[in-house]
Amino acid sequence: MQVIQRAGLIGQPLAHSWSPAMQNAAFVAAGISAQYTLWETEPAHLAVRIASLRAPDVLGANVTIPYKAAVVPLLDAITTGARETGGAVNTIAREETASGIRLIGHNTDVPALQRVLREQQAWSSGSGEKRLLVLGAGGAARAAISVALREGADPWIAARNPTVGQSVLATVQQHRMPDNNVIDLLDTEALGVALAKTQVLVNATPIGTRDPTAAPIPLALLGQLPQGAVVCDMVYNPPETALVRAARAYGLRACGGMLMLLYQGAEAFSLWTGRPAPLAAMRAALERQAQAAATGDDIRKRRDSDTTD
Ligand code: NAP
Repeated sequence: MQVIQRAGLIGQPLAHSWSPAMQNAAFVAAGISAQYTLWETEPAHLAVRIASLRAPDVLGANVTIPYKAAVVPLLDAITTGARETGGAVNTIAREETASGIRLIGHNTDVPALQRVLREQQAWSSGSGEKRLLVLGAGGAARAAISVALREGADPWIAARNPTVGQSVLATVQQHRMPDNNVIDLLDTEALGVALAKTQVLVNATPIGTRDPTAAPIPLALLGQLPQGAVVCDMVYNPPETALVRAARAYGLRACGGMLMLLYQGAEAFSLWTGRPAPLAAMRAALERQAQAAATGDDIRKRRDSDTTD
């Protein structure tokens, strides 16, 4: 009998994730007998969930809100890339050793965002300062700061709680303290001043998710960005958020979160299977998800299958 291997997403809540569609399309395209499911997990059951990844039929897992940091002590090791984010793990892969299975925590958001920004030629327009300003101070913001440091850019953070922003910036920079690179997300004057010297603006808040009118900052502020700046929204549903639409209207290059989702998923797929990811199949699956979301079919299907929101 053929064994169906398993992979899944660990977090809570999970109903809106597009990862099952993308990863299951990848398994089919690669001819791998495996299924990716949502492993919604209560905090009290996290340790048991992680231990279950040592079973022989498991390929690996993704990790999302609120467990990207909480899983670290439950793993055998984390990679340098995950350590560079101050310990944010979004992918767990298994390593077979003589003494048994080792669970390794990776951060595939970092190479994914790095790839997206390079494709947008975000660093090549460079007149003036090389600055990345990230909105938000959660796990995804850590990945953005890490990308800035990898690219030799100056990381700035705008958070509704600047104290948290300061601590995130310091943690990711491994205690190389920043020169005041933290802004209150609600301080539009300070934001405007900072944007005037920003080469890359990244939204790492969930604002705009399933709301094509919501934006993390007043959209007129985008007019402060220098010519050639790039705006990247990590929100992928809708594929074109209000922030992305407004940035394009200002003549700036801009991208939504779907490409980053694709690339982080592709990295995870390769870590689990040792194979190159079938990008075209994964991209097509995401586009189908986007279409279903646009027509409301995703919500209807979820209601029908009694999944929580
Ligand atoms: P997280 O750890 O929960 O952090 C979210 C951040 O946004 C926190 O700093 C939070 O501030 C802030 N925030 C939330 N609601 C806000 C509001 N109404 N006003 C101002 N700030 C607000 O989440 P995450 O893992 O960093 O993810 C952030 C977003 O990126 C999510 O939408 C996620 O889906 C997306 N993402 C996309 C990809 C991709 O591949 N496209 C990858 C990773 C993440 P507080 O701490 O004050 O609550």
